[in-house]
Amino acid sequence: MLARHHAQMRLTFLGAAQTVTGSQYLLETDRARVLVDCGMFQGSPHDVLRNRVRFAYEPKAIDAVLLTHAHLDHCGLIPHVSALGFGGPVYATRGTVELTRLVLLDSAKLQEEFAAKHQRFARKHPDRAAVEDRAAAAELAAATDEDAERATRDAPPEALTYLREPLYTTANATTALDQCTGLEYGVETEIAPGVTATYLDAGHILGSAIIRVRARDNGGDRTIVFSGDLGRPNTPIIRDPTPVRDGDYLLVESTYGGRTHEPQEDAIRMLGECVSAVQGATGVLLMPSFAIGRTQEVVYELDRLLSAGTIPHVPLYLDSPMAGGATEIYRKYAEYFDDETRALLAKAEAPLDYPGAVMVTDAQASQDLDASGPRPFIVVASNGMITGGRIVQHTKALIGDPAMTLLFVGYQGEGTLGAQLQQGAKQVRIDGQDLDVACQVRSISGFSAHADEPELLAWLRNFSIAPKLTFIVHGDPAAQIAFEPKVKALGFATKVPRWRETVELA
Ligand SMILES: [Zn+2]
Repeated sequence: MLARHHAQMRLTFLGAAQTVTGSQYLLETDRARVLVDCGMFQGSPHDVLRNRVRFAYEPKAIDAVLLTHAHLDHCGLIPHVSALGFGGPVYATRGTVELTRLVLLDSAKLQEEFAAKHQRFARKHPDRAAVEDRAAAAELAAATDEDAERATRDAPPEALTYLREPLYTTANATTALDQCTGLEYGVETEIAPGVTATYLDAGHILGSAIIRVRARDNGGDRTIVFSGDLGRPNTPIIRDPTPVRDGDYLLVESTYGGRTHEPQEDAIRMLGECVSAVQGATGVLLMPSFAIGRTQEVVYELDRLLSAGTIPHVPLYLDSPMAGGATEIYRKYAEYFDDETRALLAKAEAPLDYPGAVMVTDAQASQDLDASGPRPFIVVASNGMITGGRIVQHTKALIGDPAMTLLFVGYQGEGTLGAQLQQGAKQVRIDGQDLDVACQVRSISGFSAHADEPELLAWLRNFSIAPKLTFIVHGDPAAQIAFEPKVKALGFATKVPRWRETVELA
């Protein structure tokens, strides 16, 4: 529990601290407690276990949650915190609220399915399940403790059966969704006693926001800017990130610290080449992609390439029911689009559609596609890092096929199957099977929904006065090590917070 014996305003880093998932920050004043994002840890098994670690605060005591955008690693634990007693409002842009509905209901369903599978296994093999539970419990204890070895030693001897329970249910998600309230961009709104929030375009996915928080208490006024996930300038479909000129404190993401994306034109050209190559080889182009944001952008670019006559018309399968739902929500929010996309709409073009694209809704149809789908074809399936979702089965089925091109168009977190493949692994393990990699593996970084290092630095240069302190968050350690000196060189005081670290906002 956090100490509350003095009134200093403070911030605690509960996720996305030296990693890219689990975004969650707790802002406390002497009058209010506000969470900014409440995301799920994804990626390596060690990271995922952190979702089970007890919250560092009393959920009942939270006044409000501010959500930057609908990705699971930013909103995924909201039903959990709600089920444990948080009954206040969850604020987000209206577009984010709608997308969050898709994400949380899907997440709850996956939780329930996974738990049911685990329970069946435990009934059949109680001894093995007990061993696994004990290992998981030890790892969980280690995950919470700085001294991992001691924690492992001290882990309770009996199995912790709650580790087999879903983190939350569909009913919990529904309750949490009822707590969501839609806000407009650019309108300062009081969200807790003495705390206001203004949502600004982040240019990352539809509805995504930078949040400017103003907090007032006996110690005075502070403005804290949360960058959220920052998009790139000239990103397709949605508007660019908003320049921010001032703030006492800043949290800036650093996913692509130390890295530069290839120019967008090159990315589009490479995408075209991959489609054409697959056409030639009568092969398959498999693109792991997050259902929200990336999928719509990839479809947009494929449609542009097709309209320009750059690529042949290769059949496209969108194999993610969630992506279909997300595209519907994108269509509803043309008010969030940039000028270019609005101009296409005005000309009666359909920039979010690829002619003849097939939405694969049925799971069996998804599995049949690899073996019997008429080639060539393109599959865009989620999730983007091959840590779950239908992309896993496609990868498993096609990884040994030299006529398949596996094309990465997004960030691959450390420890994920996607990262392993991207780094050139010759053999990978999927569902307990060792599989040889015979397919082509390519990567395009130019479609990233995240700003690269020069773009992050350019965004930081908009500040007319450097914040008192800039927290570098949402990055793997290597990216943060590369990025921090460059932020310092701009004249910013910086800090890379540790997981669960609390910092006073003087
Ligand atoms: Zn995101």
